[in-house]
This record gives sequence, structure tokens and C-alpha cells, in this order.
Amino acid sequence: MTNDQMQGSLIIISAPSGAGKTTIVSEVLRRLADVRASVSYTSRAPREGEEHSKHYHFVTRAEFEAMIGRNELLEWAEVHGNLYGTSRVYVNQLLDSGLDVILTIDVQGAALIRKDFPEAVTVFVLPPSYDAMLDRLHLRDAGKTDGLELRLHNAEAEVAQYEFYDYLIVNDDLEQAIQEFAAIILAERCRRQKRAATAENILDHFREHFRRKKINA
Ligand code: 5GP
Repeated sequence: MTNDQMQGSLIIISAPSGAGKTTIVSEVLRRLADVRASVSYTSRAPREGEEHSKHYHFVTRAEFEAMIGRNELLEWAEVHGNLYGTSRVYVNQLLDSGLDVILTIDVQGAALIRKDFPEAVTVFVLPPSYDAMLDRLHLRDAGKTDGLELRLHNAEAEVAQYEFYDYLIVNDDLEQAIQEFAAIILAERCRRQKRAATAENILDHFREHFRRKKINA
């Protein structure tokens, strides 16, 4: 990282299963430069079509617990009976190189991040209704359970956590939801603290201009 290169922003996005957060995140990654998603570790079995190291790093419960023991996780939580966690080294490397990093994590992980990184930006995605969420989950599940009942059971408690987040997105129109999430990330880049070094450089040009003008006068 060069002196005037700022750290990237840490962006947290949470939602109950079936709210559409995965689609929103992947589309924003496609549209915006300089933003990356953290690939989490999980003890959950891969779903059909999920690739190791792309969707998750799939590990055994014992391997996951060893990572906790070595303090390698920035945050972790047990969600719907499986362990999920974020690599500390990976996220720090991305942030240090000036990239914004999206963590798609549950409400417990978000609470831990909020405590340790108060500057993190937190976003909660709400489905427009319970029925809309159910439809999406049934579509995705296509007959396989994948803990569907447990996910539905946990959804109410997850949605109730919305009040602890900085931004809320109601996903009743996918394109608008994508644009809103992108707008939050872009607005964060415009914060004074993030732009101060650039502003100082510009100010130096102004000072240099007037200094020269004085000399020549
Ligand atoms: P899924 O099994 O549907 O991929 O994910 C289940 C839940 O775990 C989702 O709410 C997802 O956001 C969350 N999750 C995924 N990765 C992490 C992580 O690294 N940490 C935490 N705390 N939650 C995660």
C-alpha cells in the first residue's frame, strides 16, 4: 500500500436465506471495480453446483475448530447447525491493497464485526414478504431439504436484527436492490476520511500555483 492509498472499506451484508443477497452481491461484483467478496470457510457440505474455494472453502468441523484455535478467523458463527467463518489474513490483505471487501455473513457474525470494526458499513436485505421468501427458497431448494425448515424457523429472529444495521434494502425489485447496494459502496468511497489524501494533493497544486504567481509578480 502506498502512503496515500487508503484502506478499502469493509462492507457487511446480511439477510435471511431466500432474500436474494447472493444475487445482489454477485451482480455488484460484476459491475463495480475494486471490490471483492471474501470467500468464507464452512463445515457445511457443498450444495449441487458449489465449487470449493469459489463459493466457500469447505472444511470438516475439526479443521474449522482448529482454525478457531489458531485465531485465524476474523469472525465465526454457528448458523443453521453449521460453522461459518471469515479468514482474517485474506480480508486484511484485500483491505490493505485498497480494495473494498464484502462479507456476506449472518447476524451473529455481523454483531462481532460491528464491535471490532466500528467503521464497517452494515447492510441488511429484507425480502418484501414472508411469502416471497418462501417462494424463493422453494424454487432454490427444488425438493431437497437442505435444512429448509430450520432456515424458515430462524428467519424471524434474523429479520428482527435489521435495527442494528446502517442500511436496509428491500428486495422487491432486484435491479433496484443491486443499484442501492452499489450506491452504498460508492458513497462510502466518497467519505472525507477516505478522500482526504487526494484532497491534500489537489490543495498542494493550488498552493504551488499561487506560490509561483507570487514569485513571478
Ligand atoms: P448458506 O448455507 O445458505 O450458504 O449460508 C447460511 C448463512 O451463513 C447465511 O446467512 C450466510 O450469510 C452465512 N454465512 C456465510 N459465510 C459466513 C461467515 O463467514 N460468517 C458468518 N458469521 N456467517 C456466514
